[in-house]
Amino acid sequence: MTEIRLHNTKTRRKEVFTPIDPRDVRMYVCGPTVYDRAHLGNARPVLVFDVLYRLLRHAYGPEHVTYVRNFTDVDDKIIRRAEETGREIGAITEETIRWYHEDMEALGTLRPDHEPRATEYIPQMVAMIGDLISKGHAYVAEGHVLFAVESYAGYGALSGRTVDDMIAGARVEVAPYKRNPMDFVLWKPSSPDQPGWDSPWGRGRPGWHIECSAMSYELLGESFDIHGGGNDLMFPHHENEIAQSCCAHPEGDFARVWLHNEMLQVEGKKMSKSLGNFFTVRDLLDQGVPGEVIRFVMLSTHYRKPMDWTAEKAKDAERNLRKWVGIVHLKETSGPPDPRLVEELSNDLNTAGAIAVLHKLASEQDCAGLKNSLEFLGLPTRSEGRWALTSQRVPREVGDQVRGLIEEWRQARSEKNYQRADKIRDGLGAAGISVDYSTNGENWGLTEYFDPAKLEAIQ
Ligand SMILES: [Zn+2]
Repeated sequence: MTEIRLHNTKTRRKEVFTPIDPRDVRMYVCGPTVYDRAHLGNARPVLVFDVLYRLLRHAYGPEHVTYVRNFTDVDDKIIRRAEETGREIGAITEETIRWYHEDMEALGTLRPDHEPRATEYIPQMVAMIGDLISKGHAYVAEGHVLFAVESYAGYGALSGRTVDDMIAGARVEVAPYKRNPMDFVLWKPSSPDQPGWDSPWGRGRPGWHIECSAMSYELLGESFDIHGGGNDLMFPHHENEIAQSCCAHPEGDFARVWLHNEMLQVEGKKMSKSLGNFFTVRDLLDQGVPGEVIRFVMLSTHYRKPMDWTAEKAKDAERNLRKWVGIVHLKETSGPPDPRLVEELSNDLNTAGAIAVLHKLASEQDCAGLKNSLEFLGLPTRSEGRWALTSQRVPREVGDQVRGLIEEWRQARSEKNYQRADKIRDGLGAAGISVDYSTNGENWGLTEYFDPAKLEAIQ
């Protein structure tokens, strides 16, 4: 088995990945707060961890990997959206979750094994908060429960900051009832018109951070293998998750490996509503950009580098994918991806290197290897729907000519005249004719790049 190496934010090094239990490899990724469509930046971690999920399933077997990604369905932003629109909170969150599934599916991502919703785990959060209070890590103040950051010596270790640095650098919410300005909310009171649950501290709702600690504990245990998310979540969200989980369950390690993806830009600029370059995944899909193109562009940059989305890259991606579909669409095969592709992905998820392998496979005319590798990465392989190559009928004289050339290719091969055989093969490729050579040329068709003049020119 290929050794998988991953860059662990916690140690700031690339490490050999050794699961706690290879029969149950466990990964948790922070999911969306559901009140609006996912923007393009939100899609990046989904795609990065989808590739990691595929790699782990390949390495350990699909039945031995558990991937959890949550939905935050109780949050002040959701409450605000409900107030602004006059709609029910439940209707907003249901609709947004449906959109999220549709949009992420269009990007070719697999569904995680569990998609817990915060509102389904309130009793577990209340229990964890109670436990933190009894262990001296949290305190009650004015109807709130706060985590006392000074009670946990490891606070700040993930992002490499001290509590004093954080106070100096962060926009912390100053509240008179906090013992330390960095103390964060585990539970807060709800007014009668806000969603709330009964608790020992009165009717209220959980803070954001406690969700992930409670749900990962319930579904993956006190120690699990990988925790992922965007690097914008490293502080404070992930620091707070670590503080809560390690204090509530000191017997465990919480997450052993932390992976963070870099952010996304658009045409070299930060995506923002004020710059007018803010768009959702759905906006792009509606403009006719195929989900596989979005996927391909995202994977062409390593996850620890900033990703720049450009229209030019999308055009290039579509051109490459069309070319490859033209090469592989007739190939009936299903097997493992090319080992070089797995090797690249095993090297800290080098998706850019994996795409370079696809280019190599295409130039080597390795139809089976290319098809299996495209499939593995969730990229298109069939001439159908959006990727249908051509609806052109093959004129009889073109058919005769192509069959004649394939016959000549066969002849040249049997005479070991490889120079001649390769010349014909390259000529057919250049003329936009896709041939499955492994069937001895039985299967062939025109791609949308078919050029009769180039066919005539084959000598
Ligand atoms: Zn989280």
